[in-house]
Amino acid sequence: MVILGTTKMAEFSGIVVYRKDYRERDMLVKILTDRFGFKMFFVRGARKKGFRLSAAILPFTKATYVGTINDEGLSFINAVKEAGQYQAICQDIVLNAYASYILGLAEAAFNDNHPLNEWYAKIAKTLSLVDAGVDAAILTNIVEVQLLGYFGVKPNLKDCVICHRRNSVYDFSESYGGLLCQKHWHLDPHRLHLDRRTIYFLSFFSQVDIMRLGSIKVKNETKDKLRLTLNQIYNNDVGINIKAKKFLDDIKNWPHAVLNDDE
Ligand SMILES: [Zn+2]
Repeated sequence: MVILGTTKMAEFSGIVVYRKDYRERDMLVKILTDRFGFKMFFVRGARKKGFRLSAAILPFTKATYVGTINDEGLSFINAVKEAGQYQAICQDIVLNAYASYILGLAEAAFNDNHPLNEWYAKIAKTLSLVDAGVDAAILTNIVEVQLLGYFGVKPNLKDCVICHRRNSVYDFSESYGGLLCQKHWHLDPHRLHLDRRTIYFLSFFSQVDIMRLGSIKVKNETKDKLRLTLNQIYNNDVGINIKAKKFLDDIKNWPHAVLNDDE
């Protein structure tokens, strides 16, 4: 008998990322686990009526599971201890898209079967904040900025990349990989020409501790600029394709009535 990888029974915390039907009665469920990273679980009988674990494999459920973890290939869930859903995220199509994108970013950054270490708690905390009504666009920006390093892009957002001057007026340069002080703007004619407020938030987002975040207020105008800037960095320097992001970009063009926006 050949044993590929190792198998172990384990109790772990996890967040359901997505699921898809598999064969006639089963499902494949992608779960972000605290200790083993993103893993695909084979759940036998999940599509049958009255399936005993059905509540625990709903999207955006956070639960404590007991299961069989395989290093490679599919893992299995045997039992569930406590489970709860991120309610607002489940009920609101826009929050749902933000949460999907945040999980998609983490999945692209870490890939399957790699522990996220402190990032598991950070992602869980971010989803709780989204669920509690903290600005999802800003939370998304913070995760985007802080995950850049995992995509091999680590812009210096603390001081001028050339002279390391602090407390200056800066602009962002993609080709120099970070901030340029006014004295060095001439080096990059393609710098992004960002205003001070946008630069301030980019820098702040790179340093803020997600675990200690409360609410953040950012003007709509600055939010739009942050979105454009991060789109540019992600499109040019990261180049990943996440379905929920496309959806979020499209939502901008929807009429307010569709989104039940009372304004
Ligand atoms: Zn400088």
